[in-house]
Amino acid sequence: MLAERVKKIKPSPTLAIDSKAKAMKASGVDVISFGVGEPDFDTPENIKEAAIRAIRDGFTKYTAVGGIDPLKDAIIRKLSEDNGLSYKREEVIVSCGAKHSLYNIAQALYGPGDEVIIPAPYWVSYPDQVLLNDATPVFVRTYEEDSFMVRPEALEACITKRTKALILNTPSNPTGMIYDRATLEKIAALAVKHKFYVVTDEIYEKLVYDGNQHISIASFNSEIKALSLVVNGLSKSHAMTGWRIGYTAGPADIVKAMTNIQSQSTSNPTSIAQKAAVEALNGPQDFVPLMHAEFDKRRKYLVNELNTIDGMTCRMPAGAFYAFPNTSRIYGRKFGDKVIGSSGDLALYLLEEASVALVPGSAFGDDNYIRLSYATSMEDIKRGIARIREALGNLKAGA
Ligand SMILES: *Cc1c(COP(=O)(O)O)cnc(C)c1O
Repeated sequence: MLAERVKKIKPSPTLAIDSKAKAMKASGVDVISFGVGEPDFDTPENIKEAAIRAIRDGFTKYTAVGGIDPLKDAIIRKLSEDNGLSYKREEVIVSCGAKHSLYNIAQALYGPGDEVIIPAPYWVSYPDQVLLNDATPVFVRTYEEDSFMVRPEALEACITKRTKALILNTPSNPTGMIYDRATLEKIAALAVKHKFYVVTDEIYEKLVYDGNQHISIASFNSEIKALSLVVNGLSKSHAMTGWRIGYTAGPADIVKAMTNIQSQSTSNPTSIAQKAAVEALNGPQDFVPLMHAEFDKRRKYLVNELNTIDGMTCRMPAGAFYAFPNTSRIYGRKFGDKVIGSSGDLALYLLEEASVALVPGSAFGDDNYIRLSYATSMEDIKRGIARIREALGNLKAGA
């Protein structure tokens, strides 16, 4: 008999569509994937070299549970230089990816009776991590016309005595949108007034376009900083998804609790990956603008093309590597006697009829959209767009 908590959660839906696409690929189908959530670039050479050096030097044993001091110091410097945030070592913990950082936070903070506010569309793991810790996710809708930023009035309307935290994600996966200063200031004021934590997932901070600026909510004043858990990592900024290094900066008592939890579950993140992360943060950063420029080019191309497809409209995303077109005008159209009635139907239709993999908006809590990752080659983006255009052209108007 499985534990009760297992019944509350589902496998990550983005991984589900990816595995179906992989199965089709394995059977020889030329599947073009817009489903992936990781950079398609290789980890830079200097970072790999640092890891190889660590192995050769025998840096292959347990480390301090919350990360080695040189890595904590590199993180502290980064948070200071990039985000205007000042932290001490005891306010920083390194974990096995930002997902693990978020999970440790959930374990340390959420419990039965607690409510955690999650603006929708949301990243897929947020609600399930809340559920796994017997707390209740409270969803608040956001709107395309507000660039998917939560409306402070709508947020305030959700706040109760049980509100424990708000999970913010800027730049956002899946919407690609970023929060502006004015909205963040209003959110910070609400958090301070009502005393709830802000878990701020900033993993895409290096991918912000059109001269926009990433702002960390924790940087406004000491009151909001004392309530903020700043989550970041190397996966997206340095193409290091497989290395599993993420980190949290926040109040020392919470970081200590997270470290205790980590000491009883995973222990330290991989010693070798920690050495690689030190190099990623302290070494040359020329990789970052190169990756940024390539993503920027693809973003503009993909979004402009999506807007020429009948039935789709797509706002130009300001960050991350996702396009999030509104596809609701397609719903009701027919393929044979099958009706495309939802984002799930549409994603399945495109996978089966066009061999194009993407993720339905329902996975992120909004059925009016689909998510396309442009962490894939320009050539595949071009071929994929042509296939989507053709497949959608084969649909007939609904009754
Ligand atoms: C990719 C991603 C993460 C987690 O990345 P890790 O590989 O676990 O560091 C966290 N949040 C969002 C929104 C992401 O897209």
